[in-house]
Amino acid sequence: YLAKGNGGGVAVYDPSKDENTTERLVLLTELHDALGRPDSDQLTVYYQPKCDTHTGQVVGAEALVRWRHPERGLLGAEKFIPVAETAELITQLTLVVLEQAIRQARVWLDQGRWLGVAVNLSVRHLADVRLPEQVNEMLTRHRVPPALLTLEVTENTVMTDPHRAVAVLAMLRAGGVKIAIDDYGTGYSSLAYLKRLSVDELKIDRSFIIGMTSDDNNQIIVKSTIELGHNLGLRLVAEGVEDAETWRHLQTLGCDVIQGFTAQPPLPAPEFDDWLRRWDADQREAAIVDLRLR
Ligand code: C2E
Ligand code: MG
Ligand code: MG
Ligand code: MG
Repeated sequence: YLAKGNGGGVAVYDPSKDENTTERLVLLTELHDALGRPDSDQLTVYYQPKCDTHTGQVVGAEALVRWRHPERGLLGAEKFIPVAETAELITQLTLVVLEQAIRQARVWLDQGRWLGVAVNLSVRHLADVRLPEQVNEMLTRHRVPPALLTLEVTENTVMTDPHRAVAVLAMLRAGGVKIAIDDYGTGYSSLAYLKRLSVDELKIDRSFIIGMTSDDNNQIIVKSTIELGHNLGLRLVAEGVEDAETWRHLQTLGCDVIQGFTAQPPLPAPEFDDWLRRWDADQREAAIVDLRLR
Protein backbone atom coordinates (compact mmCIF):
# COMPACT_ATOMS: atom_id res chain seq x y z
CA TYR A 1 0.00 0.00 0.00
CA LEU A 2 2.99 2.25 0.32
CA ALA A 3 3.35 2.43 -3.40
CA LYS A 4 -0.17 3.83 -3.50
CA GLY A 5 0.59 6.48 -0.91
CA ASN A 6 2.63 8.51 -3.35
CA GLY A 7 4.32 10.65 -0.71
CA GLY A 8 6.57 10.83 2.30
CA GLY A 9 9.66 10.29 0.20
CA VAL A 10 8.77 6.66 -0.46
CA ALA A 11 10.09 5.45 -3.78
CA VAL A 12 7.02 4.62 -5.81
CA TYR A 13 7.29 1.73 -8.20
CA ASP A 14 6.65 2.97 -11.68
CA PRO A 15 6.53 0.25 -14.33
CA SER A 16 6.77 2.80 -17.13
CA LYS A 17 10.20 3.91 -15.82
CA ASP A 18 11.25 0.28 -15.62
CA GLU A 19 10.23 -0.26 -19.21
CA ASN A 20 12.10 2.85 -20.12
CA THR A 21 15.27 1.43 -18.61
CA THR A 22 14.88 -1.83 -20.52
CA GLU A 23 14.22 0.15 -23.67
CA ARG A 24 17.38 2.19 -23.09
CA LEU A 25 19.47 -0.93 -22.58
CA VAL A 26 18.11 -2.50 -25.76
CA LEU A 27 18.88 0.67 -27.68
CA LEU A 28 22.39 0.87 -26.21
CA THR A 29 23.07 -2.75 -27.10
CA GLU A 30 21.83 -2.25 -30.66
CA LEU A 31 23.85 0.93 -31.01
CA HIS A 32 26.95 -0.83 -29.74
CA ASP A 33 26.26 -3.48 -32.36
CA ALA A 34 25.82 -0.95 -35.16
CA LEU A 35 29.07 0.80 -34.21
CA GLY A 36 30.85 -2.54 -34.20
CA ARG A 37 29.76 -3.21 -37.78
CA PRO A 38 30.65 -0.04 -39.69
CA ASP A 39 30.13 -1.85 -43.02
CA SER A 40 26.41 -2.09 -42.27
CA ASP A 41 26.23 1.70 -42.80
CA GLN A 42 23.52 1.96 -40.17
CA LEU A 43 24.96 5.17 -38.77
CA THR A 44 24.95 7.85 -41.37
CA VAL A 45 25.40 11.58 -41.54
CA TYR A 46 22.94 14.09 -42.96
CA TYR A 47 24.01 17.60 -43.89
CA GLN A 48 22.15 20.85 -43.40
CA PRO A 49 23.36 23.99 -45.18
CA LYS A 50 24.49 27.12 -43.39
CA CYS A 51 23.91 30.13 -45.63
CA ASP A 52 25.32 33.64 -45.67
CA THR A 53 22.34 35.71 -44.45
CA HIS A 54 22.94 38.49 -46.95
CA THR A 55 23.94 36.66 -50.16
CA GLY A 56 22.33 33.25 -49.59
CA GLN A 57 25.63 31.59 -50.51
CA VAL A 58 26.22 28.26 -48.79
CA VAL A 59 29.19 28.64 -46.47
CA GLY A 60 29.13 25.23 -44.82
CA ALA A 61 27.03 22.38 -43.49
CA GLU A 62 26.20 20.92 -40.11
CA ALA A 63 26.68 17.16 -39.84
CA LEU A 64 23.70 15.55 -38.10
CA VAL A 65 23.75 11.86 -37.31
CA ARG A 66 20.93 9.49 -38.32
CA TRP A 67 20.50 5.80 -37.61
CA ARG A 68 19.10 3.57 -40.33
CA HIS A 69 17.79 1.05 -37.88
CA PRO A 70 17.09 -2.36 -39.48
CA GLU A 71 13.69 -2.68 -37.74
CA ARG A 72 12.74 0.78 -36.53
CA GLY A 73 13.54 2.68 -39.72
CA LEU A 74 15.33 6.01 -39.89
CA LEU A 75 15.92 7.40 -36.40
CA GLY A 76 16.60 11.09 -35.77
CA ALA A 77 19.34 12.22 -33.40
CA GLU A 78 16.96 12.98 -30.53
CA LYS A 79 15.85 9.32 -30.55
CA PHE A 80 19.25 7.93 -29.58
CA ILE A 81 21.80 10.68 -28.83
CA PRO A 82 20.46 11.30 -25.28
CA VAL A 83 20.68 7.54 -24.61
CA ALA A 84 24.16 7.30 -26.12
CA GLU A 85 25.23 10.22 -23.94
CA THR A 86 24.58 8.16 -20.82
CA ALA A 87 27.37 5.81 -21.92
CA GLU A 88 30.88 5.86 -23.37
CA LEU A 89 29.28 4.99 -26.71
CA ILE A 90 28.76 8.66 -27.49
CA THR A 91 32.51 9.12 -27.83
CA GLN A 92 32.79 6.33 -30.38
CA LEU A 93 29.71 7.60 -32.22
CA THR A 94 31.09 11.13 -32.44
CA LEU A 95 34.36 9.84 -33.87
CA VAL A 96 32.37 8.07 -36.60
CA VAL A 97 30.53 11.32 -37.41
CA LEU A 98 33.78 13.31 -37.36
CA GLU A 99 35.43 10.87 -39.74
CA GLN A 100 32.50 10.99 -42.19
CA ALA A 101 32.16 14.77 -42.02
CA ILE A 102 35.87 15.44 -42.55
CA ARG A 103 35.93 12.99 -45.45
CA GLN A 104 32.94 14.85 -46.93
CA ALA A 105 34.77 18.18 -46.61
CA ARG A 106 37.57 16.60 -48.69
CA VAL A 107 35.03 15.46 -51.32
CA TRP A 108 33.73 19.02 -51.57
CA LEU A 109 37.26 20.41 -51.81
CA ASP A 110 37.92 18.01 -54.69
CA GLN A 111 34.79 19.43 -56.37
CA GLY A 112 36.26 22.91 -55.94
CA ARG A 113 33.91 23.81 -53.10
CA TRP A 114 35.24 25.50 -49.97
CA LEU A 115 32.57 24.27 -47.56
CA GLY A 116 33.02 24.06 -43.81
CA VAL A 117 31.60 21.17 -41.81
CA ALA A 118 30.26 21.45 -38.27
CA VAL A 119 30.13 18.50 -35.87
CA ASN A 120 28.35 18.39 -32.49
CA LEU A 121 30.36 17.37 -29.44
CA SER A 122 28.98 15.86 -26.24
CA VAL A 123 30.13 16.49 -22.72
CA ARG A 124 32.25 13.35 -22.41
CA HIS A 125 34.32 14.38 -25.37
CA LEU A 126 35.09 17.77 -23.92
CA ALA A 127 36.71 15.99 -20.99
CA ASP A 128 38.75 13.75 -23.27
CA VAL A 129 42.27 15.11 -23.76
CA ARG A 130 42.84 12.65 -26.62
CA LEU A 131 40.23 14.40 -28.78
CA PRO A 132 42.48 17.18 -30.19
CA GLU A 133 45.04 14.67 -31.41
CA GLN A 134 42.35 12.42 -32.92
CA VAL A 135 40.82 15.40 -34.73
CA ASN A 136 44.18 16.58 -36.03
CA GLU A 137 44.99 13.09 -37.25
CA MET A 138 41.74 12.92 -39.24
CA LEU A 139 42.25 16.38 -40.74
CA THR A 140 45.81 15.52 -41.77
CA ARG A 141 44.86 12.13 -43.20
CA HIS A 142 42.08 13.68 -45.33
CA ARG A 143 44.15 16.79 -46.13
CA VAL A 144 41.41 19.10 -44.88
CA PRO A 145 42.43 22.55 -43.58
CA PRO A 146 41.51 22.78 -39.86
CA ALA A 147 39.66 26.05 -40.45
CA LEU A 148 37.04 24.07 -42.39
CA LEU A 149 36.02 22.18 -39.24
CA THR A 150 33.74 23.72 -36.62
CA LEU A 151 32.99 21.89 -33.40
CA GLU A 152 29.66 22.76 -31.80
CA VAL A 153 29.33 22.60 -28.02
CA THR A 154 26.48 23.76 -25.81
CA GLU A 155 26.94 26.10 -22.86
CA ASN A 156 25.95 23.44 -20.36
CA THR A 157 28.38 20.95 -21.90
CA VAL A 158 31.18 23.41 -21.26
CA MET A 159 29.97 24.31 -17.77
CA THR A 160 29.89 20.67 -16.62
CA ASP A 161 33.66 20.61 -16.23
CA PRO A 162 34.87 24.08 -17.26
CA HIS A 163 38.57 23.54 -16.51
CA ARG A 164 38.80 20.41 -18.59
CA ALA A 165 36.62 21.84 -21.36
CA VAL A 166 38.68 25.03 -21.55
CA ALA A 167 41.87 22.99 -21.91
CA VAL A 168 40.47 20.68 -24.60
CA LEU A 169 38.88 23.54 -26.55
CA ALA A 170 42.10 25.56 -26.35
CA MET A 171 44.10 22.64 -27.77
CA LEU A 172 41.63 22.21 -30.60
CA ARG A 173 41.62 25.89 -31.37
CA ALA A 174 45.42 26.03 -31.29
CA GLY A 175 45.26 23.48 -34.11
CA GLY A 176 43.12 25.87 -36.15
CA VAL A 177 39.69 24.29 -35.61
CA LYS A 178 36.72 26.64 -35.03
CA ILE A 179 34.51 26.42 -31.96
CA ALA A 180 30.81 27.29 -31.89
CA ILE A 181 28.47 27.63 -28.93
CA ASP A 182 25.29 25.76 -29.90
CA ASP A 183 21.75 26.43 -28.64
CA TYR A 184 22.95 29.75 -27.23
CA GLY A 185 20.61 31.32 -24.71
CA THR A 186 19.22 28.11 -23.24
CA GLY A 187 22.08 27.46 -20.80
CA TYR A 188 23.44 29.01 -17.66
CA SER A 189 26.62 30.69 -18.78
CA SER A 190 27.33 34.32 -19.41
CA LEU A 191 28.52 35.48 -22.78
CA ALA A 192 31.47 37.16 -21.08
CA TYR A 193 32.56 33.80 -19.70
CA LEU A 194 32.13 32.07 -23.05
CA LYS A 195 34.20 34.75 -24.68
CA ARG A 196 37.04 33.92 -22.33
CA LEU A 197 36.93 30.40 -23.73
CA SER A 198 37.76 32.05 -27.02
CA VAL A 199 35.04 30.72 -29.27
CA ASP A 200 34.46 31.75 -32.88
CA GLU A 201 30.75 31.37 -33.43
CA LEU A 202 27.50 31.75 -31.55
CA LYS A 203 24.41 29.85 -32.66
CA ILE A 204 21.27 31.46 -31.30
CA ASP A 205 18.89 28.74 -30.16
CA ARG A 206 15.93 28.11 -32.42
CA SER A 207 13.44 28.71 -29.59
CA PHE A 208 14.26 32.43 -29.94
CA ILE A 209 14.20 32.38 -33.74
CA ILE A 210 11.00 30.43 -34.44
CA GLY A 211 8.15 32.93 -34.35
CA MET A 212 10.46 35.86 -33.59
CA THR A 213 8.69 37.98 -36.19
CA SER A 214 5.56 37.91 -34.02
CA ASP A 215 7.20 37.89 -30.58
CA ASP A 216 8.64 41.20 -29.38
CA ASN A 217 10.60 39.65 -26.53
CA ASN A 218 12.34 37.15 -28.78
CA GLN A 219 13.07 39.92 -31.24
CA ILE A 220 14.76 41.96 -28.50
CA ILE A 221 16.75 38.94 -27.32
CA VAL A 222 17.93 38.11 -30.84
CA LYS A 223 18.79 41.72 -31.64
CA SER A 224 20.84 42.26 -28.50
CA THR A 225 22.56 38.87 -28.76
CA ILE A 226 23.68 39.73 -32.28
CA GLU A 227 24.98 43.15 -31.13
CA LEU A 228 26.79 41.75 -28.11
CA GLY A 229 28.23 38.83 -30.07
CA HIS A 230 29.48 41.14 -32.80
CA ASN A 231 31.07 43.43 -30.24
CA LEU A 232 32.94 40.40 -28.94
CA GLY A 233 34.10 39.56 -32.47
CA LEU A 234 31.95 36.45 -32.91
CA ARG A 235 30.21 35.12 -35.98
CA LEU A 236 26.43 34.95 -35.38
CA VAL A 237 24.32 32.07 -36.66
CA ALA A 238 20.54 31.81 -36.35
CA GLU A 239 19.23 28.24 -36.21
CA GLY A 240 15.66 27.18 -36.90
CA VAL A 241 14.93 29.75 -39.59
CA GLU A 242 11.69 28.32 -40.93
CA ASP A 243 10.38 31.06 -43.22
CA ALA A 244 11.51 33.82 -45.57
CA GLU A 245 10.11 36.54 -43.33
CA THR A 246 12.36 35.48 -40.44
CA TRP A 247 15.33 35.29 -42.81
CA ARG A 248 14.66 38.86 -44.03
CA HIS A 249 14.30 40.05 -40.46
CA LEU A 250 17.66 38.50 -39.56
CA GLN A 251 19.17 40.35 -42.53
CA THR A 252 18.06 43.67 -41.10
CA LEU A 253 19.48 42.67 -37.71
CA GLY A 254 22.87 41.94 -39.30
CA CYS A 255 22.99 38.23 -38.47
CA ASP A 256 25.85 36.58 -40.39
CA VAL A 257 24.60 33.08 -41.12
CA ILE A 258 21.21 31.35 -41.19
CA GLN A 259 20.36 27.68 -40.88
CA GLY A 260 16.89 26.20 -41.07
CA PHE A 261 14.13 24.52 -42.98
CA THR A 262 13.51 27.59 -45.15
CA ALA A 263 16.87 27.03 -46.84
CA GLN A 264 16.88 23.23 -46.55
CA PRO A 265 16.32 20.49 -43.94
CA PRO A 266 19.22 18.01 -43.44
CA LEU A 267 19.93 15.65 -46.38
CA PRO A 268 22.22 12.68 -47.11
CA ALA A 269 25.41 13.78 -48.92
CA PRO A 270 24.34 12.86 -52.50
CA GLU A 271 20.99 14.68 -52.15
CA PHE A 272 22.77 17.60 -50.50
CA ASP A 273 25.02 17.90 -53.56
CA ASP A 274 22.00 17.87 -55.90
CA TRP A 275 20.33 20.51 -53.79
CA LEU A 276 23.53 22.58 -53.78
CA ARG A 277 23.71 22.62 -57.57
CA ARG A 278 20.07 23.76 -57.83
CA TRP A 279 20.58 26.36 -55.11
CA ASP A 280 23.69 27.75 -56.83
CA ALA A 281 21.83 27.97 -60.14
CA ASP A 282 18.89 29.73 -58.49
CA GLN A 283 21.29 32.11 -56.78
CA ARG A 284 22.94 33.00 -60.08
CA GLU A 285 19.53 33.54 -61.68
CA ALA A 286 18.46 35.70 -58.76
CA ALA A 287 21.65 37.74 -59.13
CA ILE A 288 20.93 38.26 -62.84
CA VAL A 289 17.39 39.40 -62.06
CA ASP A 290 18.88 41.71 -59.48
CA LEU A 291 21.18 43.22 -62.13
CA ARG A 292 18.30 43.67 -64.59
CA LEU A 293 16.27 45.46 -61.97
CA ARG A 294 18.94 48.07 -61.43
P1 C2E B 1 21.56 20.87 -32.86
O1 C2E B 1 23.02 20.67 -32.94
O2 C2E B 1 21.08 22.13 -32.26
O3 C2E B 1 21.03 20.66 -34.35
C1 C2E B 1 19.97 21.37 -34.91
C2 C2E B 1 18.70 20.54 -34.91
O4 C2E B 1 17.63 21.36 -35.37
C3 C2E B 1 18.75 19.34 -35.87
O5 C2E B 1 17.97 18.30 -35.30
C4 C2E B 1 18.05 19.91 -37.10
O6 C2E B 1 17.49 18.90 -37.94
C5 C2E B 1 17.00 20.78 -36.48
N1 C2E B 1 16.57 21.87 -37.36
C6 C2E B 1 17.25 22.46 -38.35
N2 C2E B 1 16.56 23.45 -38.91
C7 C2E B 1 15.38 23.51 -38.27
C8 C2E B 1 14.21 24.35 -38.41
O7 C2E B 1 14.13 25.25 -39.24
N3 C2E B 1 13.19 24.11 -37.54
C9 C2E B 1 13.25 23.13 -36.60
N4 C2E B 1 12.19 22.97 -35.82
N5 C2E B 1 14.33 22.33 -36.45
C10 C2E B 1 15.39 22.51 -37.26
P2 C2E B 1 18.50 16.82 -35.16
O8 C2E B 1 19.29 16.45 -36.38
O9 C2E B 1 17.36 15.95 -34.79
O10 C2E B 1 19.52 16.87 -33.98
C11 C2E B 1 19.10 17.16 -32.66
C12 C2E B 1 20.27 17.36 -31.75
O11 C2E B 1 20.99 16.13 -31.58
C13 C2E B 1 21.30 18.34 -32.28
O12 C2E B 1 20.90 19.66 -32.00
C14 C2E B 1 22.55 17.92 -31.52
O13 C2E B 1 22.55 18.48 -30.24
C15 C2E B 1 22.35 16.43 -31.40
N6 C2E B 1 23.15 15.75 -32.45
C16 C2E B 1 22.88 15.55 -33.77
N7 C2E B 1 23.87 14.88 -34.38
C17 C2E B 1 24.82 14.67 -33.42
C18 C2E B 1 26.11 14.02 -33.43
O14 C2E B 1 26.61 13.55 -34.46
N8 C2E B 1 26.79 13.99 -32.24
C19 C2E B 1 26.27 14.54 -31.10
N9 C2E B 1 27.01 14.46 -29.97
N10 C2E B 1 25.08 15.15 -31.07
C20 C2E B 1 24.36 15.21 -32.21
MG1 MG C 1 24.53 21.76 -33.55
MG1 MG D 1 21.40 23.91 -31.93
MG1 MG E 1 20.70 20.89 -29.60
